[in-house]
Amino acid sequence: MSERMVQQFMEMVRIDSESGNEAAMMQYLLKAVAEAGGDAALDGYGNCIARFPARGGEGQPPILLSCHGDTVKPGVGIEPVIENGVIRSRGETILGADDKAGIAEALEALRIAEVRPPVELAVSRQEEVGLHGVKNLDFGRIKARRGFLLDNDSLETIVIGGPSYFAIDVKVAGKAAHAGMEPEKGINAIAAAARAIAGLKLGRLDAGTTANVGVIQGGLIRNGVPDSCTFLAECRSAVHEKAVALADEMVRTIRSQVEAAGARAEITSNNLCRAVTIPEDAWSVKIAKQALAKIGIDARCIFITGFTDASIYNNRGIEMAVVGIGARDEHTTSESIAVADMEKALAMIVEILRLSAR
Ligand SMILES: [Zn+2]
Repeated sequence: MSERMVQQFMEMVRIDSESGNEAAMMQYLLKAVAEAGGDAALDGYGNCIARFPARGGEGQPPILLSCHGDTVKPGVGIEPVIENGVIRSRGETILGADDKAGIAEALEALRIAEVRPPVELAVSRQEEVGLHGVKNLDFGRIKARRGFLLDNDSLETIVIGGPSYFAIDVKVAGKAAHAGMEPEKGINAIAAAARAIAGLKLGRLDAGTTANVGVIQGGLIRNGVPDSCTFLAECRSAVHEKAVALADEMVRTIRSQVEAAGARAEITSNNLCRAVTIPEDAWSVKIAKQALAKIGIDARCIFITGFTDASIYNNRGIEMAVVGIGARDEHTTSESIAVADMEKALAMIVEILRLSAR
């Protein structure tokens, strides 16, 4: 059984599906779901939503299993290799275990589970670039009110909460001039942006709050005063109100510092995710813990300052705990997954299905 799961995993990672380019992967899923005994269709946004009938758990409330079908970059031309029971890419790309290992494990669990309630499987697009898929998911097709997101790396932890998230895009407009002949006629947009960034508090601001500037671009030539510079900032907090206040403060600081440098700032601040935490004694957390205990793992609940599709589900009233898939070093070219860990994740999901059918 694990050979079939591993084969399917290798097949899936060979299908290019960087965020925004998931069509081939979604077509593959339609077939794979049918082969696993389910019924799948794409919603209007291109997310895959599938349904599997109960087996011995008829009459029980349906549960939702969810994964994402996109990968981060570099994810084109992935060639998986197995060595000593560990699967990795050849080294120039990510592996894509995040989140295709979750999909492979879920499909295999659905094939082999002797007992299960009615199960819905949702595979979202564009998770890695801002949860766009799940935000545009056709929730009319989801009947389950609780379930499990298979998108945590470690099996040792269960993610029960994520932060509020603000993406802040800044365009600084200055004035171009020759840097040697008449610099006094120019307004240096890079210097203005630098002044604004220097005025920001970045890094970890308290246990649950962080801020960052991750991208800066500007200027064309060394000997010109640059008239434009853009930078991308973000902030997150476990407490929604703190994130709101911090984003406002960042916007104010950027504007005042850019203007003090004589330039103008165009700033957009988008609240892409709202903080949500489910209680440690929520049904899905308890079931996940029990299932992990069955395979000898004493999992602990954590809050992460990263964010997952579960934030959107939980905000929409579908209780989702995030469980591990067994991957390591996600989002890097050293990403890997041990077959033994895939087997553990598989056993966990089979047990989750069994416990959910009672
Ligand atoms: Zn992921």
